[in-house]
Amino acid sequence: MKILSINAGSSSLKFQLFNMPEEKVLCSGLVERIGELKAVFNIKVNGEKKSQVQSILDHREAVSLVLEGLIKYNIIESLDEINGVGHRVVQGGERFKESVVITEEVIEDIVALNDLAPLHNPANVTGIRAFMKVLPNVVQVAVFDTTFHSTMKEDAYMYATPYEWYEKYGIRKYGFHGTSHQFVSQRASEILGRNDLKIIVCHLGNGASIAAVDSLKSVDTSMGLTPLEGIPMGTRSGNIDPAILGVIAEKEGKNLQTLLDDLNKRSGYLGVSGISNDSRDIVDNMLLGHKRATLAYKIQIKRIADYIGSYYVYMKGLDAIVFTAGIGENAPIVRTDVIEAVSVLGVKLDEEKNELRGENIISTEDSKVKVLVIPTDEEVMIAREVFRLK
Ligand code: ADP
Repeated sequence: MKILSINAGSSSLKFQLFNMPEEKVLCSGLVERIGELKAVFNIKVNGEKKSQVQSILDHREAVSLVLEGLIKYNIIESLDEINGVGHRVVQGGERFKESVVITEEVIEDIVALNDLAPLHNPANVTGIRAFMKVLPNVVQVAVFDTTFHSTMKEDAYMYATPYEWYEKYGIRKYGFHGTSHQFVSQRASEILGRNDLKIIVCHLGNGASIAAVDSLKSVDTSMGLTPLEGIPMGTRSGNIDPAILGVIAEKEGKNLQTLLDDLNKRSGYLGVSGISNDSRDIVDNMLLGHKRATLAYKIQIKRIADYIGSYYVYMKGLDAIVFTAGIGENAPIVRTDVIEAVSVLGVKLDEEKNELRGENIISTEDSKVKVLVIPTDEEVMIAREVFRLK
């Protein structure tokens, strides 16, 4: 059975076609700069990348191009072979505690959450609608970034803000990267052979979040109402004193939207270092002695350690720390420094294993807490959900 996994952004569309239940990737690709005359359609077939530049005016055109590409490159013979499409949707609010088969009512409910995720949900819905038009008879499933965290308890998800904000507008922590946190914590449980583990997942990519997972259920996570909360990221500030907004608004005459853009797009690694949002640039410059790159790096390590300490206390113990995503999977130096920062927990890295690539247990035999690197796979999680609900 062939299932497409889709992640639609405002000007991009990522796709992966799986043969299920084998979970074999038949092809993957990315349409970039949708809406432009020089948009790019990238597709990877049998490990070979093909790219074409052309005008792609909207998501509907992008979807048609992807489906035509699947036929053109002989991945499928006809569209009838596609048995299901899974869509990543960023914000599921309190309405969606599980993945769902998409109906018109579901779309309306996702649209109703736009206020909570104005940067993401509208683009996700555009992708859904485009696929529903082109493949009207194929089951479409929405898989939310937030559902894995719907098991958090009130004391973890409520803010200490006026209670009416929650009642009227749903202001609370929802958390994100749920499919990734779920995928790697399930995998860690398989590797370690137990389902009752207390795990802290460090999903460290350009966007980054930490999750506390007890017995395969998320009990707390660092991102909040939006992905801005938590640890500093490539361009996001993570937690700050909200009163800073008032001070800068007054000093620089900036409006709220500009200030939020500063926190979302011009902070984190980029804002502190003044160089780059990319962890490779930060590390390279730090090793050359660049002061602000070093500071950007150190702030992030400290904040990650803060969360690990806090989740260790909240879960009353810890069996494993798992690193995943671009930085977590590929930057041994970050793993070394995070683990050093939480060494009081009795956790120890095997530095040789830490240099290995791919999935590995990288702690020493005598470490009190296991440390693992597990490459994440949000696409396969989406395909699994479609397969389950079909
Ligand atoms: P997102 O999905 O949030 O865009 P990714 O998970 O792709 O982010 O992670 C991007 C980050 O991973 C970047 O900061 C990048 O520098 C880092 N990264 C990717 N590959 C490597 C590598 N080989 N070594 C160190 N860092 C890497």
